[in-house]
Amino acid sequence: MENTYAEIYKKQHYGLVGKHSAVKVCHWTKSELTGGKGCYKGDFYGIKSHQCVQMTPALSSCTENCSFCWRFQGFDSMHISDEDDPEFILEESIKAHKKLISGFKGNSKVSKERWAEAENPKHIAISLTGEPTLYTRLGEFIELAKRRGISTFLVTNGTLPMVLERLDPLPTQLYVTTAGPTKKIFQELLNPSIGNAWENFNRTLELMPSLDTRKVIRHTLVKDVNMPYIEEYSRMDSIARPDFVESKGYVHVGQSINRLGIDNMPSHDLILEFTKELGKNLGYEMTAERRDSRVTLLAKDSSKSKIDFGNIGYQAI
Ligand code: SF4
Repeated sequence: MENTYAEIYKKQHYGLVGKHSAVKVCHWTKSELTGGKGCYKGDFYGIKSHQCVQMTPALSSCTENCSFCWRFQGFDSMHISDEDDPEFILEESIKAHKKLISGFKGNSKVSKERWAEAENPKHIAISLTGEPTLYTRLGEFIELAKRRGISTFLVTNGTLPMVLERLDPLPTQLYVTTAGPTKKIFQELLNPSIGNAWENFNRTLELMPSLDTRKVIRHTLVKDVNMPYIEEYSRMDSIARPDFVESKGYVHVGQSINRLGIDNMPSHDLILEFTKELGKNLGYEMTAERRDSRVTLLAKDSSKSKIDFGNIGYQAI
């Protein structure tokens, strides 16, 4: 492992995979495994948190340094120079995830059925940290997951539309984080490391209608910084016409506490107010909310919010 920050990542319980990938067991994975709640994406879209692997193929590479990001930002390059094979990343990520959850085997709160399911992941969240579209073999990785009957959520900051345009296959669900309603806020809050990030991001919005997969715009909302700006977000969402719009409040945890204050966390009621206004402008309906995660869901077509992720196979998507 050549990563400069390997020791920091290990201390933070990341499972390092090859030269530029990592997994980390999500809070909700542990919670659902031990009989508690799963994450809001279970309520919104039907994924099972105890069968979810949270990973990144771009641990040290990102095109932005977002102020609200709670992860350690050990980004030292915008280019992954020596790329691992997608087969290797997939196999080793699943292995590393299983190793990280192995301590739960035998835990009295974990039922036999839950454990057996957890040993057989059905979902990969390509979202842990970094910008995953910087890994040039991301399409092959998604294809391999799909062949194994594993669904994929890809979270991107949208600064590399040229990659999304060619990505084949597309993930089961594509998330584009949309947190800069104006160029000024975009520059200040997301701190891009590439010169044309704003222009590229806007190209991604324009590209979205042509991408044939389920699409989500996620607004990460920071009180007194990037909200409400309803008109600006309405304009952006109208261009992208995603299947869903998630509005999620900034959470004052991890590394972000050095950059933002606790007062920057919007209340759930404020998020609800924002959602109602935005929904009215877009003609989308609010179909779900999770107060403990300060998040709401607007849907273009409210009959299509859940799919059975347990049954996703190679042919099914
Ligand atoms: S989808 Fe995200 S939040 Fe939900 S269990 Fe997976 S990694 Fe955690």
